[in-house]
Amino acid sequence: MIIIMDLDATPDEIREVEQEIERVGFRPFMNPGVERKVIAVLGEVDAHKADLIEHFSNMPGVARVDLISDLWKLASRSYHPEGSIVKVRDVIIGGNEITVAAGPCSVEDEGHLLEIAEAIKQSGAKILRGGAFKPRTSPYSFQGLGEKGLKMLARVRDKVGLPIVTEVIDTHDVRLVTDYADILQIGARNMQNFALLKKVGSGVRPVLLKRGPAAKVKDLLMSAEYIMAEGNQNVILCERGITTFEDSTRNTTDINALPVLKRWTHLPVMVDPSHATGDWRMVGAVARAAVAAGADGLLIEVHNDPPHAKSDGPQSLKPEKFAALMNQLRRIAEAVDRKL
Ligand code: PEP
Ligand code: MN
Repeated sequence: MIIIMDLDATPDEIREVEQEIERVGFRPFMNPGVERKVIAVLGEVDAHKADLIEHFSNMPGVARVDLISDLWKLASRSYHPEGSIVKVRDVIIGGNEITVAAGPCSVEDEGHLLEIAEAIKQSGAKILRGGAFKPRTSPYSFQGLGEKGLKMLARVRDKVGLPIVTEVIDTHDVRLVTDYADILQIGARNMQNFALLKKVGSGVRPVLLKRGPAAKVKDLLMSAEYIMAEGNQNVILCERGITTFEDSTRNTTDINALPVLKRWTHLPVMVDPSHATGDWRMVGAVARAAVAAGADGLLIEVHNDPPHAKSDGPQSLKPEKFAALMNQLRRIAEAVDRKL
């Protein structure tokens, strides 16, 4: 349920509505940054909704009370009609620009990371990606460098001037990763790790939330809602391919998810063509399709020596290939009235 206040509602009237929401056992959440005050009423509203609508409609300063029938509220377009913009240092995600994050799957070596970061920046990437904590399918695969990797990322960020996004896989590491990273990535495997979602939701860093391989778009939005309900509104969604019966590629890119998400949510949406395809030869085609279909950004794995990468080498682009792709993407962005 949302309560839309009159344009000239006084601060006292707004406060009284918020207090009344709490008095009847719910949690008020004020939509930040919009001209007309909209207060979301969080909690199990559905049971006595007719009474609640009438009750709040009669309060001074209230213009209208609307039910949001979606299970996600704060993430929904009905609550927040304009597209959201997430700001990270001087980089913007959402709005008219398309933002590309690129870098190796795993942080392996500082010299290489620096080389990759310089190359992707030169090609127009705005964010450096790299995993220090890796959620690997096998416990015997490379698990990441941990804090040592975070330190490398932070030093490279300071040298090159690109904000960094890196994954956090454990609630106990959220504080540590927050100390180094500009954006916290929640990986596909943890999309429904609700303890982790709540933890990053009460934190201060923007969150890049990846869609689980077997998750519906609706599930992705409810996971975003877990983060937002804790206070953190800076959520970026990421389509990274889902599991289908098709086994010619690692995953299947759900391009439909882009127009669906654009209708249902105000949150920016990125696409990860690297994990979606699992094959560097197919990354370009899916990246181009994603930009044409309305993605607000891309997450692309780039490595300067893919055959020797510790993870995801087969889907990593070499810096030269990434540069050529960025030039194509720029032209596609222009064709759909966006900037890259
Ligand atoms: C990654 O970005 O390196 C990663 C592990 O992605 P996903 O969680 O989408 O598999
Ligand atoms: Mn990877």
